[in-house]
Amino acid sequence: MAEHESLEFGKADFVLLDNVSMEEFMANLKLRFEKGRIYTYIGEVVVSVNPYRAMNIYGRDVIEQYKGRELYERPPHLFAIADAAYKAMKRRNKDTCIVISGESGAGKTEASKYIMQYIAAITNPNQRAEVERVKNMLLKSNCVLEAFGNAKTNRNDNSSRFGKYMDINFDFKGDPIGGHINNYLLEKVCIAFGKDFSCINDGADFKAVADAMKVIGFTGDEIQTVYKILATILHLGNLTFGVDGDVTLIENTKLVSVIRELLSTKEENVEKALLYRTVATGRDVIEKQHTTQEANYGRDALAKAMYERLFCWIVSRINDIIEVRNYDAKIHGKNTVIGVLDIYGFEIFQNNSFEQFCINYCNEKLQQLFIQLVLKQEQDEYQREGIPWKHIDYFNNQIIVDLVEQQHKGIFAVLDEACMNVGKVTDEVFLQGLNTKLAKHAHYTSRKLSPTDKSLEFDRDFLSKTFIYSGKNKDTLFQDFKRLLYNSSNSVLKAMWPEGKLRITEVTKRPLTAATLFKNSMISLVENLASKEPYYVRCIKPNDVKSPLLFEHERCRHQVEYLGLLENVRVRRAGFANRQTYPRFLQRYKMISEFTWPNHDLPSDKDAVKRLLQGCGFDHDVAYGKTKVFIRTPRTLFSLEEQRAEMV
Ligand code: ADP
Ligand code: MG
Repeated sequence: MAEHESLEFGKADFVLLDNVSMEEFMANLKLRFEKGRIYTYIGEVVVSVNPYRAMNIYGRDVIEQYKGRELYERPPHLFAIADAAYKAMKRRNKDTCIVISGESGAGKTEASKYIMQYIAAITNPNQRAEVERVKNMLLKSNCVLEAFGNAKTNRNDNSSRFGKYMDINFDFKGDPIGGHINNYLLEKVCIAFGKDFSCINDGADFKAVADAMKVIGFTGDEIQTVYKILATILHLGNLTFGVDGDVTLIENTKLVSVIRELLSTKEENVEKALLYRTVATGRDVIEKQHTTQEANYGRDALAKAMYERLFCWIVSRINDIIEVRNYDAKIHGKNTVIGVLDIYGFEIFQNNSFEQFCINYCNEKLQQLFIQLVLKQEQDEYQREGIPWKHIDYFNNQIIVDLVEQQHKGIFAVLDEACMNVGKVTDEVFLQGLNTKLAKHAHYTSRKLSPTDKSLEFDRDFLSKTFIYSGKNKDTLFQDFKRLLYNSSNSVLKAMWPEGKLRITEVTKRPLTAATLFKNSMISLVENLASKEPYYVRCIKPNDVKSPLLFEHERCRHQVEYLGLLENVRVRRAGFANRQTYPRFLQRYKMISEFTWPNHDLPSDKDAVKRLLQGCGFDHDVAYGKTKVFIRTPRTLFSLEEQRAEMV
């Protein structure tokens, strides 16, 4: 039985390319896609191309083939990565994580489902009930979060959620005992509230979501409240303001009583919160009437804030329910974790906004972590094994990360400063700040801002043409709305808005800006990942029409470029493709050499492995460490596998 793949399907690992060039990379990717081989390795990284058709490669039989195997022993698959992560966790008691990135529609969420399915399938059958509970909870929560995370705009279905991170906790036996979810949201200022929520587009959709919530463990009251909040947001979208003399008023007053009913508050309170804001001037507190423009702004901010708060509340309720229940295991046993990160990759559009800036910053950080870990792991191991370290040349993008996140003079800091300027937050102020603070930075190019072209350019392929509007960084919801919601007699709704109990004179703290919140959450995400052993899945979307037949060359090339895949191949090729302890190596390959089969009489396993590899002519491609043999190119490994397959 041949365990490797024939070349008819292209190269199973991009590290095997004759030349590391974009042309060869693309040719291999395309060939494999056309032959139905949607997965290809770069060392231990899985590159996946969305097949847009049902693939018969996820069944129980396939799971069995990957169970306990090493990566190179089977054709590239998500299951191999899931198995590697699980093995590392179970055997070496290590926290691991699987980072899945790619653009919207590239297949990230599907990939995370297959990975969870695999992990659930290989865990202890005696623990089935608990395993099933955790797995079902995570999958059901995913369904609910997908429905709520995708607030659709009129024109496209961009998600306001660009990343999610799930932890699965395991006890010392390697059985799942709980989970935790984290979501990464982007501010979508322009969401057309009032029309398109995927989950409430029609009643049937909402019923499916409500059923899932019920299974997870939400109470009837909670589900009712969710429904009422969504209905309120829809009605807010239809609410319009007018003027009569110098009085701002609500044009369709009937809606106010509907909203009052839904929010379980007093009608006059709703009206007042929509038309006035309370301001503190020195010791006085006065009610100031909104202009129609302010009233419109307030209404939209309310809809958006209610939606975001609802989403966060749902996530925290799910976490209450799925977190580790077995406190004994939590305290006593070795509690290890496999994290799964499902996150947007680099995004470059014609016009790039604050969202792309945030996403790309996040990816710069992930890329930094990737290079750092791969190189560091290699270096440490070579040192331990007494193998000379060969310097690897690569672009260290720490300098880009600093440019963005540095205290006081990074782009985020300048953006925050520009936004402090109450009343006149303009792109000019922001640009001036950048030009002053970053003028000398090697990767920043100063740029004049013309009235027609508001773009800023950064000197880096990844961040090029990043286009920022400082206005999106500010997000304020009038305290009056918070108080309105806090004063609801619906206890579920009230609990979502605890800060509503503050009086206006107590609200002194300036809320953190969107940029600062985002930066902080990215820093803690990367810290969390850095403490784990990472595995990577890079997803590619072959076309924009969901066709299983179309491989749009330019579209794919663009993704390969921005995911930094060629650089990945270069880093992988610079080191050793594989390493195995001498006994393990012999156990697998001793049958291919007369010197080692069935047993060897050499002084040590190390000598036996040397003899075997010399005999096959692979001696030049390996290095012998203290306890392990290091194989430089995957080609050698595949040849060994081939010879082994002929023998068994
Ligand atoms: P993302 O999470 O990256 O936005 P999804 O995982 O939701 O993308 O995938 C989008 C769609 O592509 C899925 O609904 C499914 O139809 C198809 N798809 C993705 N991965 C696969 C796969 N491995 N096999 C079959 N279809 C897939
Ligand atoms: Mg998704």
